[in-house]
Amino acid sequence: MMPTSKKHIALISVHGDPAIEIGKEEAGGQNVYVRQVGEALARQGWQVDMFTRKASVADAAIVKHLPNCRTIRLTAGPEEFVSRDNLFEYLPKFGEELLKFQQQSGIIYPLCHTNYWLSAWVGMQLKKRQGSQQVHTYHSLGAVKYKSVGAIPLIATTRLAAEKAVLETAEKIIATSPQEKEHMRSLVSQKGQIDIIPCGTDIRKFGGMTRQAARQQLGIAPDAKVVLYVGRFDPRKGIETLVRAVNICQHRQDVQLIIGGGSRPGQCDGMERDRITNIVNDLGMAAFTTFPGLLDDTTLPLYYAAADLCVVPSHYEPFGLVTIEAMASYTPVIGSDVGGLKFTILPEQTGLLCPPQDEVAFAAAIDRILADPSWRDRLGQQARARVEEMFSWDGVAEQLGTLYQQLLQEKPAAKRSLASA
Ligand code: UDP
Repeated sequence: MMPTSKKHIALISVHGDPAIEIGKEEAGGQNVYVRQVGEALARQGWQVDMFTRKASVADAAIVKHLPNCRTIRLTAGPEEFVSRDNLFEYLPKFGEELLKFQQQSGIIYPLCHTNYWLSAWVGMQLKKRQGSQQVHTYHSLGAVKYKSVGAIPLIATTRLAAEKAVLETAEKIIATSPQEKEHMRSLVSQKGQIDIIPCGTDIRKFGGMTRQAARQQLGIAPDAKVVLYVGRFDPRKGIETLVRAVNICQHRQDVQLIIGGGSRPGQCDGMERDRITNIVNDLGMAAFTTFPGLLDDTTLPLYYAAADLCVVPSHYEPFGLVTIEAMASYTPVIGSDVGGLKFTILPEQTGLLCPPQDEVAFAAAIDRILADPSWRDRLGQQARARVEEMFSWDGVAEQLGTLYQQLLQEKPAAKRSLASA
């Protein structure tokens, strides 16, 4: 029986559909986070509704994941993919549709956990309209992102203002690492309530097979030196740094470089993939570099397990789920010395950190781990232990659930103002 104290909650993720296939254009960590947190909270007894924007006519309006956990797709703007920088104009409609859904279903969400600044804006409107409490996870901070990109989008001013407002007004902000909290304080505002609750991973899904068994299934030679990248094709992910690093590392000729992740031809991720493919070809690396495309739930654990090491060369990374997935698979990670990677990777214990965009440093780090298989194994064991201890989804959801309960006890009921909605 569900404890009566555990109520309906809304997870809002306007642009990151928790029910969508991961790895599609702009689908990444946020989709995984919302879906996993939602399902884990539901297993703990909460009634979880996850709201997202309907981005395809073919998508169902409601997807049921568990008896008490569903994704609800609201129609706001065209039912097609719209890049997140162009979604702001559809937010008022999204908010209206959410209120309409409440009216029709008779549910009022006393607490909304919003994800990314677009959803933060919707959450702030709900707070004004009906007093819903707000918990917010940024996933990415404009103030950090705009420091590392050349062209600042038109929406930047609106985004920065919304990110400051939510920090100062939400009942609680979730930072996924101490580094992210520090950025909020130094770059956004000194005001507001911040708790650190990390992202998680499914420790049952990863780490269930040996390197050799995984290689056999994937047709990879037992003695190959496998260097793995998993993630979106986006210039900020730093895949170019990894390619150039492998090109100069001493093990170049023995390495098998696998660059995993989906992309759509003609879209911006497709262009980045073409750019990376051209670099691979120009450097004469095509013979030992593969692009297996989108890795699904079945193949992803195999790739992580088969790899000698996983590289996360991002220019910036607020958390970086790929890192803890690889670590959960007993695979050490070499990451950029930025953001959440400084929190998840313990240098010399679970992997190594290198300055971002420094291909020489990445090459040296790759060489060090490939040269010493017993050290690689030790790093892998310690990586798995760290994930078990700190980064399981159930543990993360437990911490979030406790927080929700505290907030709901402090301020029990949302204002019942549906009539005015
Ligand atoms: N992912 C996947 N298959 C792929 C590429 C990525 O399932 O082919 C998943 C990956 O396992 C991870 C998420 O997409 O859970 C990426 O999250 P991360 O935080 O590393 O990066 P983001 O995309 O949020 O920048």
